[in-house]
Amino acid sequence: MKLIFKIFTIVIVLSIVLLGYISYNNNQFDGENLPIQIQTKLKEKEYHIRKLIIEKYNMDINIPIIISNKIPDNLFGLASYDNNHIKIILNKNRFQESEEYMINYVLPHEYAHAMMFIFKDFTNENSGHSQRWQQICLELEGKKCDRFVKHNDIVMGKLGSIY
Ligand SMILES: [Zn+2]
Repeated sequence: MKLIFKIFTIVIVLSIVLLGYISYNNNQFDGENLPIQIQTKLKEKEYHIRKLIIEKYNMDINIPIIISNKIPDNLFGLASYDNNHIKIILNKNRFQESEEYMINYVLPHEYAHAMMFIFKDFTNENSGHSQRWQQICLELEGKKCDRFVKHNDIVMGKLGSIY
């Protein structure tokens, strides 16, 4: 009888610990900011991309990267240009499904759009996914620099308050 009670107590304690762990992990996505370990990975990738730009273009570029949960769900990220101000906005909700994809695919993709803005190349070809864009995306070590994307992830002019 005593043994059964002990096992029962251990099972209860383990369940409470597990529940606490699960709700901690869920809550990490509730606030304004991304979980700290994802922020760190994102920063590392950002520095790596900036280093590649210095090496390949001899330019020290620093584009603000904004994490937002207000951009449309079908967009992973976007690059915006307004009066010489360039921004990259990444969809916070998409990090929860796949931080790997956001960091290694989406960030270089959007950084390549930002570089096109810096070069004042505002082409409409394939919604901005021209050969030149692809070349830059590959140079920034984008995992998949697909020119034939269905979405339009470039915003010219005011972004509006929803972003
Ligand atoms: Zn794009």
